[in-house]
Formats: sequence, structure tokens, C-alpha cells
Amino acid sequence: MKNSNNLKIDNSYAEELYEISEKCPPKGFKKAEMLLKNYSLAKELGFDKSFVDSDECLNIFAGNNLLQNSIPIAQGYSGHQFGHFNPQLGDGRAILLCEINKMDIQLKGIGQTPYSRRGDGKSALSPVLREYMISEFMHTLKIPTTRSLFAIKTNEDVLRETTLPGGVLTRIAKSHIRIGTFEYARTKNNQILKTLADYSIDRHYPDLKETDNKYLSFFAGVCDKQALLVSKWMSIGFIHGVMNTDNMTISGETIDYGPCAFMNHYDPKTVFSSIDHSGRYSYQNQPAILIWNLAKFAETLIPLIDEDSEISIKKLTEVLQHTMPSYQEYFYKEFAEKLGLQTIDNKNIKIIDSYLKILHSESIDFTLSFRNLAKIVDQSSTIEDSVFNKSKDFSTWYKSWKKEINVANVSKEMDLKNPCYIPRNHLIEDALMNAVGGDMKEINLMTGLLKEPFTEKDGFKKYTISSSSDERYITYCGT
Ligand code: AMP
Ligand code: MG
Repeated sequence: MKNSNNLKIDNSYAEELYEISEKCPPKGFKKAEMLLKNYSLAKELGFDKSFVDSDECLNIFAGNNLLQNSIPIAQGYSGHQFGHFNPQLGDGRAILLCEINKMDIQLKGIGQTPYSRRGDGKSALSPVLREYMISEFMHTLKIPTTRSLFAIKTNEDVLRETTLPGGVLTRIAKSHIRIGTFEYARTKNNQILKTLADYSIDRHYPDLKETDNKYLSFFAGVCDKQALLVSKWMSIGFIHGVMNTDNMTISGETIDYGPCAFMNHYDPKTVFSSIDHSGRYSYQNQPAILIWNLAKFAETLIPLIDEDSEISIKKLTEVLQHTMPSYQEYFYKEFAEKLGLQTIDNKNIKIIDSYLKILHSESIDFTLSFRNLAKIVDQSSTIEDSVFNKSKDFSTWYKSWKKEINVANVSKEMDLKNPCYIPRNHLIEDALMNAVGGDMKEINLMTGLLKEPFTEKDGFKKYTISSSSDERYITYCGT
């Protein structure tokens, strides 16, 4: 149904999955003000610029007015958090307004919902701006992700260890269905589970509807999308930080930018999150945790695959066993591209592995290394002037690598694959501190720079290097 803004509003989740969601109109923030607007995403969704700039828009996305015809809900979900099952999570601080063009329109940090448990349902402004910047950066790199439409300052405080300015993010997603949503449906009954699976297939994997065992194909589809996603995270040194099953979508989009961060010097054990004491969600553990989470997903699907649960388990296990090899294929494809290697054979796999070994043994900056390498090969810089200048093994590696690449175009190709600018931890922290204090200059500058992360610009060298403070950087869950 079209509303007064000529937007086609759907509420398919509210209508079809009412058994695992709760109607929940937002209470809103009366003094809210708009800080960041994503005009290009707004356009994709069908919003006119004049609407985006209007008070009407601010009031809708600050939760004061409803989009006409929308049925706001909070979604229920469970989740394995750090390995432990919590049956009752759900949108404690987020409300799904509706769907537009099949995309979920959700307000995050919008106040209490029936799933808030003891929380206030609110969010501080800083993590809202952080999610906006990092998620849009991921999108620029073509890494599947939820998007950010608006970042709003509520002009009300939230109480954490101290009082902090509050914020609301408008998050856009292909859907917010998580592995945890399936875990939640499984705690209800098989009929609800089937409805959720059918809905998910219709929405995200419509081509699988006609396959022999569509639920098994669905599982394989999710495994594949997630394997690809994690390989892309690894390729840019992204550490998600809290890969709980409630933070993994079945659409294969990155979700939940709480404690995420980018690795500086290459160390597979890197962890930034304040609560990840054992390194469960470290850089190197991400693929193994992916498989662990998918195993939990598989468990929820057992009743749908076959009447005989032994057969179900056997079939699901077979699919799961293919996931690590396909992840590895994706991983080497990403890194082959990063290094300008044309083929993925044993020789090139060895070249990739030994490159990473050099980065590790010399504590070399991951992101910068690929840009430096491109400069060495096109002779615009030297090994002595690069991050490799202390490595004994680099020149031998360099010779073997050079034999496998097309020297003439490789640096151009590499520079299109390897960002020069990433949301470096210390820079983003500085920008956020200023923004929370009312000065948006640095955020706006970084947002601009990160929109063209492959183009090196004069005068912006400090945005390409890490700071010693990055090594001690700690991230929090963002509530
Ligand atoms: P997250 O760490 O963002 O994945 O959130 C884990 C769970 O805690 C989810 O069910 C959230 O909805 C809930 N949660 C996080 N922050 C709050 C809050 N401020 N108020 C209520 N629930 C929250
Ligand atoms: Mg979450």
C-alpha cells in the first residue's frame, strides 16, 4: 500500500511472523535533531530529498510520528552468546517500523520494547555514529552489510557509567532475521519454525523454492553467503568482535557494529573487545566461530529436513562439512586479488601464506602493507621506505611473487582492491569525541574520505597510518 509520501510500505514480518514479534510503537524523542543523512540510500529507498530534509522525516525517524501504514514491531530472538544459550533476547532497543522495497527500516536506540529486560532500550550517540560510519564504509567496499540511513541526536542523556548524549540510528537491512531468530522459533514449535523458514526462503532465497529439499538448500545457501562474508572481513582485517548467533544474519549481511574494529599490525590473535577475555572472537577465530554458529543454525533446522532426525543430522552435517573448504576458497580468492595474483594454485597459496607470515613476524600494518607493496612494484617507492624495511625475508618473497604477477598493471589493480583509508581506531575515536561535543567537522571529513577509500589524496597521510594508541584500543558493546 502506498502512503502519503508515495512510499510502498509493507509489514510482511509483522503480519506473517506475529507469533515471534510484538507490536510496539516507539515513544519517540521530542527534542531530536538530525546529524547524518544518507541521501543516496534515501534515494534508493524512494525518499525525495525534500522529504529527507523535512521536519516530518526527522519526527518519523526520531520515533515521534509513524510512517503512514507502518506496523512497528520488536522482533523476538534467542542466541548463543559467547557459547551460552540465552533463549530470551530480542529487540531490546530496536523497533522495526516496516519494510520499503523489501528492505527493513529499523530504529535502533529508540527506547524500551517488550524485550528490553532490564535495559533502557536506548543508545548513546557515539556508537550510533560509529555504526553509521563503519557500516557505510563496509558498503563502499562491497561487503554485504546492514546500512545506515540517519543518525539522530536525541538531545536526551542516557545513563551508563556516566551520563552520555543519546542517539538513534535508522538501520536498513535486507532483513533482521538472525540465526538467533531460528533458535527462538525452535523454542516455540515446529509450525512457527516452518513459517519462519518459508518466509526466509521467500524473502532471501526465492530460487530455492522449487528445489528437492528446500530447507536443506536454504541451509547450504546461508552457509555459502556467510562463508563469503567472513572471507571478506578477513581480507580487510575486520574483527566483528561479538559473533554471537544473534548477530549473524541469514541474508549474509554484516550486522551489529558494537565492538568491531580493524586490525592494525597483522596478528591473527588480535582482539579489541573489552568482554572477549578468551579471544573467542579474535581475528583468526572468525572462520571457526562461523562454523560453530552454523552448527547451531543446523540444529534448529533438524525438524524441517526429514522426519527421521538421524537422516536430518546426516544431511545437515554433510553441508556443514563443505563450508570450511568453501570459506578457504573464498579467502584465497580475496587475498589473491589483494596481491594481484591471477590464479589460485598451490604455488600462489604458498605466496599468500608466506606474505602473511612476514606481516606477522615483523608486526607490519596490515592495510598499509598492500599499498606499500604496490608502490614498490611500480617503483614509486623502495623497500627501504616501506613497512617491509626491517624484514629479512621480504626480498626473497618479493622475487617469488614478482614471477607470478603481471608487473605492468599490478599496482593499479591492487590499489583498486586494497583501501588506503580505513576507519582507523584512533581516528574514529577522535572524530566521535568531537562529534559528541557538538563538532561534526572531523566526522564529516572522515565520512568523505571513506567514501573513496582507494584514492590517495594529498595532505591526508595521517589517515593512512596507525597510532601507538591503536595497540591498546578497547571496544565496548556499544550500549
Ligand atoms: P547486542 O550486544 O547489541 O547484540 O545486544 C544483545 C542483546 O541485548 C539484544 O537482545 C539487545 O536488544 C539487548 N540490549 C542491548 N542494549 C540494550 C539496551 N540499552 N536496552 C535494552 N536491551 C538492550
Ligand atoms: Mg545484537
